[in-house]
Amino acid sequence: RRVLFRSDLLSNAALKTTEGLHKAGFEAYIVGGAVRDLLLNRTPKDFDVATDATPEEVNRIFRRSRIIGKRFRLVHVLFGDETIEVSTFRGSHLEAEGDSKVTDSGRIIRDNVFGSIVDDAIRRDFTANALYYDPASQEVLDFHNGYADIKAGILRMIGKPETRYAEDPVRMLRAVRLSAKLGLKIEPNTQAPIAKMADLLQDVPPSRLFDEMLKLFLSGHAMKSVTALREQHLHHGLLPMLDVVLEQPMGERFVMLALQNTDDRILSGKSANPSFLFATLLWHEMLAAWELYKKEGHHAIPALHMAMTEVIATQAEKLAIHNRYTATMKEIWGLQPRFEQRAGKRPFGLLTHPRYRAGYDFLLLRCESGELPMELGEWWTAFAEADGDTRTSMLQADTSPKKRRRKPRKKTSAPETL
Ligand code: ATP
Ligand code: MG
Repeated sequence: RRVLFRSDLLSNAALKTTEGLHKAGFEAYIVGGAVRDLLLNRTPKDFDVATDATPEEVNRIFRRSRIIGKRFRLVHVLFGDETIEVSTFRGSHLEAEGDSKVTDSGRIIRDNVFGSIVDDAIRRDFTANALYYDPASQEVLDFHNGYADIKAGILRMIGKPETRYAEDPVRMLRAVRLSAKLGLKIEPNTQAPIAKMADLLQDVPPSRLFDEMLKLFLSGHAMKSVTALREQHLHHGLLPMLDVVLEQPMGERFVMLALQNTDDRILSGKSANPSFLFATLLWHEMLAAWELYKKEGHHAIPALHMAMTEVIATQAEKLAIHNRYTATMKEIWGLQPRFEQRAGKRPFGLLTHPRYRAGYDFLLLRCESGELPMELGEWWTAFAEADGDTRTSMLQADTSPKKRRRKPRKKTSAPETL
């Protein structure tokens, strides 16, 4: 089928990659999510290329390229700030030769057997993801009726859904995520086994779950995705802490607000910080742990640090949250008590903290979810915008008992709310 795509949606880097491979005598197609998104008139997030050249051959053709990956060996080809992922057509894992490994439950854990384009198409997940576009001929190769499914708004698994989920349980999450993101309806036979097979997600390595979760949360449709995951009971394995958090009304409100906030940012073209997001997801878990340590008699601040360490150690580890995220999460959490101190020099110090903005955004979510009075968030908004004199007049009386007695700056200021 010949299809003309809007040239402004096509990536130059992807075109140069297919051209380079063609010139060297290989087949090369833009494949997967990018073709699907183009057919849906959306800007693809990234471009993948499939070819009959081996990773080594691809690597030799492009000067700025490197071979990556173990489970799937791929080549990253770099053009400016764009990276094109080039994969060699993959064959069936059931064939004897090559490097592949299947577990007893049918899960594929290594998959480096090369094959033909037909083999490659059959091992992709959804029909909508198995379209191959050749920019030279402007033709789309469609082995599984993906074109018709996309046009009909259907997300359909290739092959027998039960088998495909057993091979890779993450496909259940992908079904939910892609249907939420693209507004495609999951076809009934693709949908049906998910309820029975959800538990298989427990066996997936945390690092893969983390990657998939990050995609889900940063898709611009996190709210819709998480709601769908809960409906399908897929959130148990994926989001251990959400089980607990979503049960309590305040926790649920907080998480939903955070997801909505993230979606709004992404859809308006802004970036969203994964650390901030994970800090929100684990916040109510953190609050509960903090409360416990305080009840045990620890002072507020040491108790907070003990709670942070504990939550990070248990939850963050289960989720394989990288260290580079947990450090920022701790910073955002650690700033929270400081927002409740509105006397003396401390508010000025907080304003200049490198994480002030994230801490403040986090505070606003806490206020909006009903955990803290709105007045506190409004005070910080006003304080940050005010000039020096106004700021001084906004400060509250210093009631801190440990400090040397200081004369209150303003006798008429409002009483401390917290
Ligand atoms: P997104 O828009 O989120 O990038 P995508 O479909 O492009 O969605 P990728 O993870 O970029 O997702 O994968 C690229 C392609 O690789 C998919 O379109 C699909 O053809 C194939 N693929 C990815 N993950 C799987 C999987 N778990 N099982 C089978 N095929 C997969
Ligand atoms: Mg993609």
